[in-house]
Amino acid sequence: MDIKLPFGLQDGKLVDISSVDSGLGCNCVCPSCGQRLVAKKGDFNQHHFAHHDRVECEGAVETALHIYAKNILEKHKRIVLPPVYLNNSDRLIFPPTEVAFDKVVLEKRLNNIIPDIIVFIRGKPLLIEIAVTHFVDKFKESKILALGYSAIEINVKSLFNTAYHKVFGYRDFEKLLIEETNFKRWVNNLKQNLISEQIKKLVTSKKVIHSGLYKYPTVDNCPIDKRIWKSGHKKGQSYASLDDDCWNCPFGEIIRKQKYFNNGMMVIEGKIREVYCCAHRQEEIDDIITKFKRTKDLQATIIT
Ligand code: SF4
Ligand SMILES: [Zn+2]
Repeated sequence: MDIKLPFGLQDGKLVDISSVDSGLGCNCVCPSCGQRLVAKKGDFNQHHFAHHDRVECEGAVETALHIYAKNILEKHKRIVLPPVYLNNSDRLIFPPTEVAFDKVVLEKRLNNIIPDIIVFIRGKPLLIEIAVTHFVDKFKESKILALGYSAIEINVKSLFNTAYHKVFGYRDFEKLLIEETNFKRWVNNLKQNLISEQIKKLVTSKKVIHSGLYKYPTVDNCPIDKRIWKSGHKKGQSYASLDDDCWNCPFGEIIRKQKYFNNGMMVIEGKIREVYCCAHRQEEIDDIITKFKRTKDLQATIIT
């Protein structure tokens, strides 16, 4: 659904359509291009702003939602973070957690990126990316990873659409932005990475089979029984598909691969010969997760 512009700038401040006079008397300009706006507050359509010269600019809604979301986080200084799972799995490490900010910094350059917002929780930084049309891609993700900060992305477009759909209420939007976790995802979570690093120490090597009989590379004896051979001399034994199972498995580390990011696309060279797998050491994995979960201060611990 196309969103009609619900905000304008009045004396440099973002104002919503409900708080201004109708028509040109709203005294607002577009947050993106700076052109004069008309407040359309008729009886039939959703109230919205339109450009006075009738040429709607592309970036108006995006810029407005960006400013609006930032203002809310700056005002409330709190957010509920999405749950943290063991990498690529549904194994919960931390539930959704509300954190309070000590400080909020907007659009400050950090090495080669400019995050939308940096907040500090118990003195520790968390990056918050506000996504309306431009989402964090693999390229930016790798830069954030290299920076060594935890980061989340909020899908403000879909959040706004949800609020807009039930006859847009600003309070709905504020509440959803702060409390709802369905619109948020971890771009990088340091604690999740730390747990994965510990778990990787438990791995042993498994050979990848590039057989002429089966189209795809496989690994025999998958400890979590991803697949079972239905025929042939291995009938009844478990296996895993390298590409469909091991590649995203939280218990697997694929080696003998060279990968680099080129324009956000992951490029892989060379035949993969081994998978380092640790799924057969579940008890030790449980111990690691339990050790990291044991904390008196979840706010401080969830992002570091
Ligand atoms: S990495 Fe995962 S999918 Fe692959 S063999 Fe090990 S447990 Fe199975
Ligand atoms: Zn404009």
